[in-house]
Amino acid sequence: MTQTLPAKNNQKLQLSPLNIPNRLLLGPGPSNAHPDVLKAMNTAPVGHLDPAFLTLMDEIQSLLRYVWQTENQLTIAVSGTGSAAMEATIANAVEPGDVVLVGVIGYFGNRLVDMAGRYGADVRTITKPWGQVFSLDELKTAIETHRPRIVALVHAETSTGARQPLEGVGELCREHDSLLLVDSVTSMGGVPLYLDEWGVDLAYSCSQKGLGCPPGASPFTMSPRAIEKLQNRQTKVANWYLDMNLLSKYWGKERTYHHTAPINLYYALRESLRLLAEEGIENSWERHQNNAEYLWQGLEDLGMTLHVEKQYRLPTLTTVRIPEGLDGKAIAREMLLEDNLEVGGGLGELGGKVWRIGLMGYNSRKENVDKLLEVLKKKIK
Ligand code: PLP
Repeated sequence: MTQTLPAKNNQKLQLSPLNIPNRLLLGPGPSNAHPDVLKAMNTAPVGHLDPAFLTLMDEIQSLLRYVWQTENQLTIAVSGTGSAAMEATIANAVEPGDVVLVGVIGYFGNRLVDMAGRYGADVRTITKPWGQVFSLDELKTAIETHRPRIVALVHAETSTGARQPLEGVGELCREHDSLLLVDSVTSMGGVPLYLDEWGVDLAYSCSQKGLGCPPGASPFTMSPRAIEKLQNRQTKVANWYLDMNLLSKYWGKERTYHHTAPINLYYALRESLRLLAEEGIENSWERHQNNAEYLWQGLEDLGMTLHVEKQYRLPTLTTVRIPEGLDGKAIAREMLLEDNLEVGGGLGELGGKVWRIGLMGYNSRKENVDKLLEVLKKKIK
């Protein structure tokens, strides 16, 4: 029999029950979850192979296809945050030696570069100053020069607030036998996006932004062209957890156990997608655009300057320049601690230069814009 030893108690904290402040999350994400989503999340878990749960998985798949405007059969939620779904696209699509062309317009483009390199890709990059986007001509030239197997673009660059137009890129990719991979973490649900119409072959997103859900269950999809590449691989997918050969058997007809799904997160995701379908995706896009324009006008009325040219601005994430002479980081901290209102600071090249204001999902509401403008007005005068 194992001898019992006296337990060490030096890490044994004596805590009171959880008490987290109630914040309005108007930063780059997470955004506040819809109250109905939190309620759904509070439902008692069932088993991950329970028929009731399998039905819920089917519903999630269908609603993800609706929100993304795709008929891709392989459309699932990855158990993990947006980065896990991002890594899933790279892990499944990239084989060592593949040329992967990444359009870098900010921080998350660089993350794609890092990930693709880790999976053995021959990574080529094109870059733009942070806040700008590529024209179709620039992408055409790059595709003709590099002849990539995969072209990876960030639709909504959260670090800069810029929206990369995607119209026409899918056709270019087809002409050159490339797959088009798109990051839609900050666009899904809030920015018009038509995966099939635009010829996107691989896409991923997250739950905690435009879908108004807590983080942890992340949309992922693969077109038949991308599946064909997966099926013709010479090497195994170098990531067991994210291998779609295995995961598709859990989400598909076989229902083979792969991992224990985070049941309650999927409850939450299902409710957030249900609410989005009830509103209608076009209405959601319109709501995000209207509230963003209301914000932009309010910021300009305060004498502030927006970082991105209007036609490329994201409705979900706005970058506004910090007025000369102000300590942006200190003000954001004050807003958080005194006003319970979170905004983000600049990342990378834009560190210390901009605040990042998110109006995503449930948080994209006029009253939130009014609250933010009222607080900001006091801080910058
Ligand atoms: N891609 C973009 C554009 C993002 O904004 C983020 C997160 O903000 C990610 C990827 C990574 O997602 P997560 O933080 O959920 O892992």
